Amino acid sequence: MIFESKLSHIEVPNVNVADYVLSECKRLSSADHRVFVDSATDEYVTVDQLIAYTKRFAVALRSKCGIRAGDVVATFANNSIYYPFVAYGIVAAGATCSPANASYTPHELAHQLSNSRCKVIIVGDGLRSTVEQALQLVDHKVGHILMLDESRIGCEDSIFEFMDSMNNTIEKEDDPFSSGQPEDFAVAPAYLCYSSGTTGKPKGVVLTHRNMIANAMQINQLKKLDVETTMCQEYETYLGLAPFCHAYGLSYVMHSSVSLGGCIVVMRRYSFDAFLKVVQEYKITFGYLVPPIVCALSKDPRVDSYDLSSMHTVLSGGAALSPTLIEMTEQRLPGVRVIQGYGMSEMSPAMTMLSTRHRNLKSIGILLPNSQAKVVDTQGNELGVCEPGELCFKGPNVMLKYLDNPTATRNIFDENGFLQTGDIGYIDEAGFFYITDRKKEIIKFKGFQVAPSELEGLLAEHPDIEDAAVMAVYDDNQATEIPKGYFVLKKQSDNRNAVDDNARGQAVVEWLHERVAKFKRLRGGFSIIENIPRSPAGKVIRNSLRNMDHISSQG
Ligand code: ATP
Ligand code: MG
Repeated sequence: MIFESKLSHIEVPNVNVADYVLSECKRLSSADHRVFVDSATDEYVTVDQLIAYTKRFAVALRSKCGIRAGDVVATFANNSIYYPFVAYGIVAAGATCSPANASYTPHELAHQLSNSRCKVIIVGDGLRSTVEQALQLVDHKVGHILMLDESRIGCEDSIFEFMDSMNNTIEKEDDPFSSGQPEDFAVAPAYLCYSSGTTGKPKGVVLTHRNMIANAMQINQLKKLDVETTMCQEYETYLGLAPFCHAYGLSYVMHSSVSLGGCIVVMRRYSFDAFLKVVQEYKITFGYLVPPIVCALSKDPRVDSYDLSSMHTVLSGGAALSPTLIEMTEQRLPGVRVIQGYGMSEMSPAMTMLSTRHRNLKSIGILLPNSQAKVVDTQGNELGVCEPGELCFKGPNVMLKYLDNPTATRNIFDENGFLQTGDIGYIDEAGFFYITDRKKEIIKFKGFQVAPSELEGLLAEHPDIEDAAVMAVYDDNQATEIPKGYFVLKKQSDNRNAVDDNARGQAVVEWLHERVAKFKRLRGGFSIIENIPRSPAGKVIRNSLRNMDHISSQG
């Protein structure tokens, strides 16, 4: 059975995505509207500045670096108020923006730089040496390295100097938006994102202008329903915390929120205290968050010292969030509704989303407009309502392909063009979607399937647990995979009566075992570790977790 979106159809224009986002923003706001505000310094970029910087940077890339349609320009920076015009400028120039994760090691960055064959790289604060080390590791030359870091202003490699020599008044024929692109925007790549590689080496995900515009419009469509029912405000103050280098930050924050005329308060780096302070001081109304932060909101005592009453909605995405944590958060912050979005980089990324009007604690949302879904069993047969299987999607936001990887591209699409997500879930009669686990991470204990995310969700509810993950280890004696827990314990405030960590871990295990079927028990024991390695979106990086086993282990 094929499930169709119940939301009304949208017309996706055939234009440059930067042009789309900026003209919508301009249409909905005044010239001096502050689109991006720096939460640490109060500096800001207005809509007119944003448009001018974007154009100037696009023209400079073309005239000084010879950048043409199809060329790749990489960004390697933490969030800042200047990041967006860099990304918009690259795509406005007709080139492809390949954002690299700012926490990459030289090895990880080297892979992206050479795989994408990027010609220019724009580098943020404190990251230059990583780029230089990365370039030594691979046989790939980058034409220009430009620094986004404000402390480089006045230096030759500063992006601001690079743009400054461009005349403020750009000739009509130089206008990046008005010069038509040879390729059709439906197939012309705008972004080349690399998935965070929690389950394998990152692949380049080719997202076209049309993919990205469609996704911003799909998200906006659902949000507008909330405005109509006055559950949301027309102009929101968003938190710019989700990393701009990930499809999540790109699509929801840099595209959707900007095209709705919102104000985005940018956080360069995350700490829970800084986050709370920013919400209070800037009266954030809408927060795009990830599960670990929602978890902290529900439990951390520091929350009580701040006034977070401006915030009416928290949208969590990137990884699973348990209904109990949602309830705990809403009880603690009565003005806040917690909703979820689901997607993957390959879908630009949003595919299903809840709205404050379409509420369901256990669900990851309803299907966004212009798209179709199906659930299939292991043989690829279509399943019906409430029957769990692999979720597959089709829509204008679904990627074109993986870069230079026809095999991987062939493998992810089925013969009818549906993208096979590797996520296990089902769809109910009302059209709500549910994820029960990730195919690639299911633990097989003897014949039984154990879903790590289910155990992780439960563990996160325990008062002694700061963060937790569950992963398969292999038991040679029984010749089967068994689940093992990785716990980050809350610091104990009272040192005199501190309980031994191993005893606390053991108590957590016993607590969990009272709540789950026998086959789901943590037969692999547990390790107490300092922190769970997570991708920026909050997903457990299982390869790294495996290497942390030596620290402390209870079999
Ligand atoms: P992966 O290891 O799956 O390749 P990635 O590093 O490529 O991850 P993404 O593309 O952002 O990063 O990950 C997409 C995956 O994140 C989805 O396939 C799904 O498993 C998970 N996910 C995203 N949102 C949710 C959600 N709301 N609930 C549960 N899982 C989610
Ligand atoms: Mg992936």
